[in-house]
Amino acid sequence: MSLSSEQFSTHLLQWFDQHGRHDLPWQQEISPYRVWVSEIMLQQTQVTTVIPYYQKFMTTFSTLEALAQASQEQVLAHWAGLGYYARGRNLHKAAQQIVKDFGGQFPTSLAAMMTLPGVGRSTAGAILSIACGERQPILDGNVKRVLGRVYALEQWPGEKAAENWLWQRAEELTPVQRFADYTQAIMDLGATLCTRSKPQCHRCPVATGCSALAQNRVADFPFKKPTQVKPEKSVYLMLLQNQQGQLWLERRPSKGIWGGLWSVPECMDWQACTELAQSRFGKASSLLKWEPFRHTFSHYHLQITPVLVQQSSANEGISEGEGGYATELALTSNGNWMDLTAVINGQIGVPAPVQKLVSQLQDY
Ligand code: SF4
Repeated sequence: MSLSSEQFSTHLLQWFDQHGRHDLPWQQEISPYRVWVSEIMLQQTQVTTVIPYYQKFMTTFSTLEALAQASQEQVLAHWAGLGYYARGRNLHKAAQQIVKDFGGQFPTSLAAMMTLPGVGRSTAGAILSIACGERQPILDGNVKRVLGRVYALEQWPGEKAAENWLWQRAEELTPVQRFADYTQAIMDLGATLCTRSKPQCHRCPVATGCSALAQNRVADFPFKKPTQVKPEKSVYLMLLQNQQGQLWLERRPSKGIWGGLWSVPECMDWQACTELAQSRFGKASSLLKWEPFRHTFSHYHLQITPVLVQQSSANEGISEGEGGYATELALTSNGNWMDLTAVINGQIGVPAPVQKLVSQLQDY
């Protein structure tokens, strides 16, 4: 890079003063708690998506104590739709840990902060820098991309040696003055100009120091992760609807995909769907296969085939308390009949694909 560290941060801060974002919700009434929640939500999710979730979350859980005292279910109901639900579960667990181990005060050292579930070095660095007045570098996805281009790093930034090298550069570039603004500024640069596709180099405040631009190879950086083909899995999701129009939902185990959220029963194949429907709703129950769709997780693609099973009038004799479906399932599963509106209104935390199916079911 042809700019000194000081020139780099000076150019960036001048740009930030004029063009940076200064009115984001977490930039008001700055506190470690508010910055922490924003940093966790912003991992893997864009600012525009995060803002309404953040505002609703902060209205309900305005303090760390309020978050620690909430149930996991309440927290996940506020997370439904944001994805990567481990973030919500970790946030809740960390709040409880802060109350238990740190007397309700946010820890103020990097090492202590990194003992919290879901808080890595970059998140801890951002909280310390923005909310605690301590100079710490950050290296989130945006910053890795910016520095990967500025230094024309010929390695995938997620690789350990490359990441260590980038941490050293991030440390060198962080100024001794205005480090909180610098932290916001470099995140803004990555989010608004040095974007993944179509970066706006002609407006970039550090363009004169950018090696990728000097080599006319911006599109080559950052280096991509060596390709790994994601495996395909498939599942049938059973939409079991009783005569009152309610849907059967079960609480998922806290570990694994969609951990702690409510979801519909799963079957591995059509035969299992048929057997489940008949054993619960009787032979007269009709199964309707909806259009399959694909949902992508970080490690695999999931082909989802929704199957609607509505309790028909032929089963009118089956009712709760008579050994019918509801009683049997209620006794054997961690589940319940739920109103569709409760799911649609966000009172119950369900995964995004199930939310989509419930909306379709309501319009059905
Ligand atoms: S010049 Fe372009 S590629 Fe280089 S840091 Fe600026 S926006 Fe990113």
